[in-house]
Amino acid sequence: MMGKKRLSVFGATGSVGSSTLSLIREHPDKFALHALSANSDYHSLAQLAQEFQPSCVVIADEAFYTPLSERLSGLGITVLAGQKALEEVATQKVDLLVAAIVGLAGLAPVWRAVEAGQNIALANKETLVAAGHLIMPAAEKNGATLLPIDSEHNAIFQCLRYENQADIKKIILTASGGPFREMSIAEMQNVTIEQALLHPNWSMGPKVTIDSATMMNKGLELIEAAWLFDRGAEKLDAIIHPQSSIHGLVGFKDGSWLAQLGIADMRVPISYALGWPDRLGWQGQDFDFSQALQLDFAPIDGQKFPCFSLAKQVLGQSAEQAIILNAANEMAVAQFLAGEIGFADISTIVERALAAGDSGIKAHSYEAVIALDREIRQR
Ligand code: NAD
Ligand code: MG
Repeated sequence: MMGKKRLSVFGATGSVGSSTLSLIREHPDKFALHALSANSDYHSLAQLAQEFQPSCVVIADEAFYTPLSERLSGLGITVLAGQKALEEVATQKVDLLVAAIVGLAGLAPVWRAVEAGQNIALANKETLVAAGHLIMPAAEKNGATLLPIDSEHNAIFQCLRYENQADIKKIILTASGGPFREMSIAEMQNVTIEQALLHPNWSMGPKVTIDSATMMNKGLELIEAAWLFDRGAEKLDAIIHPQSSIHGLVGFKDGSWLAQLGIADMRVPISYALGWPDRLGWQGQDFDFSQALQLDFAPIDGQKFPCFSLAKQVLGQSAEQAIILNAANEMAVAQFLAGEIGFADISTIVERALAAGDSGIKAHSYEAVIALDREIRQR
């Protein structure tokens, strides 16, 4: 019998982290935990550590080191805190590192893990948006493997498993269209935070839920796909598919299309990454094909979703443009969630940041990416 897979889960207290741990909970015979991390929610992290008994836990915000240590004293679990510790633990060899931190905060551990040649199950799309030009060659050089968890990219990854790169004609990501798919542009000007957080199909963390409402998410995902699948903008597209049953499609030169279907539950793509190269079963709902199943498709209205258009413009442009897009969007979404700006201001802020450009910092290294990201946020 094979031994257990040793895992580290970065962003363990989040939405993807929780889905990951629910699968691990179902399979105690298959997985053992090396490390769990969280930003500041030491209470949830302590609970998870008590349940899963990892070798170590990392709390990114050092202010919570003491209460976390107190909660875990006597359990033989190493408690660490701070950014340096997060990066250090990312280099500790495991069978799979699940990268489920949200935003560019997740880049540092992913970068260290890539340098250390780890197998990485990647949910944290912002890392590839901002640093795909460095991560992909570094992964190749260091023998790191990236298994996409983002549902659309996982779908494409599955469709391409037995295919030749040269036969691919088009890669298409699907989008639910979010909560405002049916609204007019005028109606969308004054939507509330609560409305924007009500995703019709997926239950996710707040940032990606707002990104789905603006459809910036699909734009970020096109950039993510460009890096993961080594495709130019002309080979990539996204379409609205309100049922979120098909997650991605690949067209081939002979006119065949392959698509992956699955219910809108992140355990589908996460289980694929956890089980890879095998499949991992789990208990839950599935399609009921004895009932009528509808699959609709429609183009994305770039005027109605300016964030999508902005990201599409950046696709295939410079790394600096992608870093600006990502940083400005993260800032704008945080401001919207704090009630400081309106929904329509998100795209305006991103557009202005892109128009202002960079101050000459070239994103030639990991350090330069971080520096440029900081500069955009400080503006
Ligand atoms: P979330 O907000 O639910 O969880 C984020 C996790 O990251 C938490 O554990 C939090 O403690 C940690 N974190 C936040 N800021 C941090 C910081 N500065 N330093 C260290 N840790 C920090 O987010 P989520 O919805 O689980 O999304 C995680 C990532 O996966 C995002 O990049 C998102 O785009 C991507 N993703 C999510 C889903 C989904 O269904 N939720 C689907 C596809 C892709
Ligand atoms: Mg997705």
